[in-house]
Amino acid sequence: MTAKIISGSDVAKSIRQECKDRIAAVARRAGVIPGLAVILVGDSAPSQVYVRKKLHAAQEVGIVAHLFEFAGDVAPETVLSRIDELNADPRIHGILVQLPLPPQFGIFEVLHRISRDKDVDGFHLYNVGGLVVGDTIFPPCTPFGVMKLLEYEKLPIEGQNVVIVGASNIVGKPMALMMMQAGATVAVCHAKTRDLAQFTILADILVVAAGVPGLILPQMVKTGCVVVDVGINRLANGKIVGDVDFEGVSKKASYITPVPGGVGPMTVTMLLSNTITAAEKGVMAPI
Ligand code: NAP
Repeated sequence: MTAKIISGSDVAKSIRQECKDRIAAVARRAGVIPGLAVILVGDSAPSQVYVRKKLHAAQEVGIVAHLFEFAGDVAPETVLSRIDELNADPRIHGILVQLPLPPQFGIFEVLHRISRDKDVDGFHLYNVGGLVVGDTIFPPCTPFGVMKLLEYEKLPIEGQNVVIVGASNIVGKPMALMMMQAGATVAVCHAKTRDLAQFTILADILVVAAGVPGLILPQMVKTGCVVVDVGINRLANGKIVGDVDFEGVSKKASYITPVPGGVGPMTVTMLLSNTITAAEKGVMAPI
């Protein structure tokens, strides 16, 4: 078997077109242009790359994006005051704080300071709670992107065995909740899981988000399974790879996402979608 490659780049392109249409509609009906504020603290090179990508993608679909940069040794109160101002600014519909933050910050204090109506990353407790009960407004962007990829490929989730490798707050845990909500039977594995393969071999859909290159080998997956590789790892030779042995596993899986060009473009796209949702909320009364 040779797996069909799920192109996140293609799906992202299609959703970004839908984003443009939604922006045109909200502008026409309410005179509103969605605005996104991105807060970047410090000079971490990867964070700068991610932020640049987000700003560029936002501008490309027609969202007005604003960057607020702070030195790495900034007092947390300064950033919190800026968040308060952005919460009150009607031109700003979405606020994103690029993670990780320097050690002087209490991450939850920062994330929970963002208005729940502008929490387009979906990390505020209110939105996390919404995810738990199946009533979320802003699904966290990476797992939301994974769900969209499966939806575009018309791959059923209900009744499937879904195994998630990785249990972080930003990927693994929300992914598990979304899959459960969609009717899957879900197992979540992490670094303390004994004998990872005994779980992964059962997966109809395997989502891997551990940050360990080559973690998933062909003998760990069932023939015909769907494999979604969220991992992004830079090897010593500069090559970007996921967590899955792509070459080996794609000979056994029925569908697989590549790295790069799989989940990555979807994460940014779902941020755009959530920002537009924030702008639509409140101004788009039913016709
Ligand atoms: P994280 O916060 O470091 O969490 C990693 C998770 O993987 C943890 O739950 C950890 O277990 C688990 N883990 C680590 N080693 C493992 C192993 N050998 N076997 C099983 N589980 C293991 O990372 P993250 O932020 O979730 O990101 C995970 C990966 O996805 C990274 O490569 C990151 O770059 C990538 N990522 C990609 C996107 C995208 O858009 N494509 C977005 C976000 C993240 P413990 O909980 O026990 O420590």
